[in-house]
Amino acid sequence: MKAPRIRSFSYHYREKFGEPVGKLPLDLGHSCPNRRYGGCIFCAAPAFSPGYLQEKRDISSQIIKGKELFLHKRFKKYFAYFQQETATAQPSSQLFPVFEMVLTDPECVGLILSTRPDYVIEQFLAELAALLAGTGKDCLIEIGLQSVHEKSLAFLNRNHSYDDFIRACQTIRRYEKFEIGAHLLFGIPGETQADMLFSVNEVVDIGVDAFKFHHLQILRTTRMAELYEQGKVIPMAMEDYLDLLLDIIPMVPKSIVIHRLWATAHPDMLIAPRWRILAAELSEMLRQQMAERELSQGCHLSS
Ligand code: SF4
Repeated sequence: MKAPRIRSFSYHYREKFGEPVGKLPLDLGHSCPNRRYGGCIFCAAPAFSPGYLQEKRDISSQIIKGKELFLHKRFKKYFAYFQQETATAQPSSQLFPVFEMVLTDPECVGLILSTRPDYVIEQFLAELAALLAGTGKDCLIEIGLQSVHEKSLAFLNRNHSYDDFIRACQTIRRYEKFEIGAHLLFGIPGETQADMLFSVNEVVDIGVDAFKFHHLQILRTTRMAELYEQGKVIPMAMEDYLDLLLDIIPMVPKSIVIHRLWATAHPDMLIAPRWRILAAELSEMLRQQMAERELSQGCHLSS
């Protein structure tokens, strides 16, 4: 397989498992602890839930429905993706029976757990590492960080610090079994392009295995939408965002898997920016621009 310009999720796991691997979103049915403090001002959970999760179902029914409606026979193997609402915030007594059940499915190659830096708990990791031992299955812990700049974290109402993220990474690194992913958000009001690049470089230096990049989307029902209506938030234009990615991707080491390059909220929830372009077209545009400029992931790093 010819190495692509970007080590994407699909390329990386096809190379690793010898066949296409998908992500199957599953919903544990609880609420993120940060919602007790008003929640992050950009976050609206329904914006990123696939249709089959809208109706309340138990996890086995979600897996059956998800395989049928979401994986669409395109992927036989999949990661069970606990993306919603800080997956590690529930007590182990509720989480582990679910993980145990999911891991018995031979088509499931592992878990992806999405969480916050302040919900990476040592005891939980120790129990999870023990559960995974001998299964041969992967586990990626994705941490929502969004920015390394404290003023941005405060503005977003994240209620954690950048130091919390560093501590969470150090804790996860004590366990060989886990990989670390980081989410970064671009276009936060008040951040310059240099600030965004700084966030990427900082997190690269800390040492992560995966990135998810998002541009700021203004979603219905959020505090960010109110600020947008008041003219206090200007979403990034598509061309500016692509330019930003052309600066960022060459600074990301080739070994890091880039799971996502932009946000894709449900159109019913999205107020702005409305780029009116399919993700596949955007992807193609980025790849073309990278080819024209002879750029690839990590190409600006000295080896
Ligand atoms: S921590 Fe995550 S799930 Fe919770 S409110 Fe913030 S973005 Fe939403």
